[in-house]
Amino acid sequence: MNSSAAGQHLGADIARPTGLDDLIVIAGAGGFIAGNLTRYFHDLGYRRIRAIDRKPLPEWYQHVPGVESLSMDLSKEANAVRAVEGAVEVYNLAADMGGMGFIERFRVECLRSVLINTNLIEAAYRAGVQRYFFSSSACAYNTDLQASPEARALKESDAYPAMAERGYGWEKLISEMFCQEYWAERGLETHIARFHNIYGPFGTWDGGREKAPAAMCRKAIEAKESGDHRITIWGDGLQTRSFCYIDDCLVGIDRIMHTDALIATPVNLGSSELVSINELVSMVEEIAGISLERTYDLDAPKGVAGRNSDNTFIESVLGWEPRTPLRDGVAETYRWIAGEYAKRRAGHAVAVG
Ligand code: NAD
Repeated sequence: MNSSAAGQHLGADIARPTGLDDLIVIAGAGGFIAGNLTRYFHDLGYRRIRAIDRKPLPEWYQHVPGVESLSMDLSKEANAVRAVEGAVEVYNLAADMGGMGFIERFRVECLRSVLINTNLIEAAYRAGVQRYFFSSSACAYNTDLQASPEARALKESDAYPAMAERGYGWEKLISEMFCQEYWAERGLETHIARFHNIYGPFGTWDGGREKAPAAMCRKAIEAKESGDHRITIWGDGLQTRSFCYIDDCLVGIDRIMHTDALIATPVNLGSSELVSINELVSMVEEIAGISLERTYDLDAPKGVAGRNSDNTFIESVLGWEPRTPLRDGVAETYRWIAGEYAKRRAGHAVAVG
């Protein structure tokens, strides 16, 4: 993790206006992406990082040495104000979220993330923060454009006319607008990435909030363990998605945050390698060295029929796009989940979701 094949640290080639003693605040750091982002900036040499999450500290996926780690609910205004005190940059990745099983069932929880986003951006503006990052989602796109597995890849302008995913997607869209208007009216520099299915180690792999790659890896591990090779797939397995490996996501966040041409401009951060869920399962089978007996639960939440990331815009601005092959990223994720699974079986406490 966090090192390229050449042994160079991830992101070492990116130019940033910040100094290593500037205070960086990372919200949602007990979770998957922000936890990895905390490790990423720490490994780049940043000495003042404040990591925040609502979860109690023992439940965080990662504990990064030397980082000020606070357990606070950022939907409360006073906590948001405390969180950003003295910050030069704020990375807001805190949200009540999960895979399709979560976001289709708990729309109110998803919508209430607007409290985190409104409080944190206002606090950041008042504190004179220099740059503010917001993690939006492909769920903000018009769902009418995603009605078939062959749907064309989504480009940034496809969010409007708006018909976002109910609950979660609409919240992302309105919070994007907050970012755009804080820049337009108040001059707070904001950066917005629309993530497309990020996956990798140190993320949710059990408990109901996990996403497809982690869920498939865990199911394959359970099948190997139990000898029962039956696996239930949500939907008909023909639905298509692209999945973006965490290392690409971290580098993408860093590049997007430090590019003036992307101020207040939502940009896709995703892979353009499209696969069906059936293909993803075959990949996991091959990695696990197992053959699974598939059954399909057509009533389970499955989301839109097809979704891919059009990377024309990000490539044109940054000369970069996520490129980790899915096979490599899933192998790494499988290896990590198998390790966590074994630790849990041996009676050790592990974070799952
Ligand atoms: P995650 O659930 O692992 O992390 C989010 C963290 O936010 C959790 O640890 C949670 O405890 C914390 N949180 C929730 N409410 C909070 C509150 N009131 N105060 C403080 N912390 C709070 O999810 P993730 O996958 O790391 O996602 C990070 C961000 O990226 C989220 O905004 C999410 O919507 C967005 N995103 C993720 C994906 C993906 O594929 N993982 C895709 C699109 C968008």
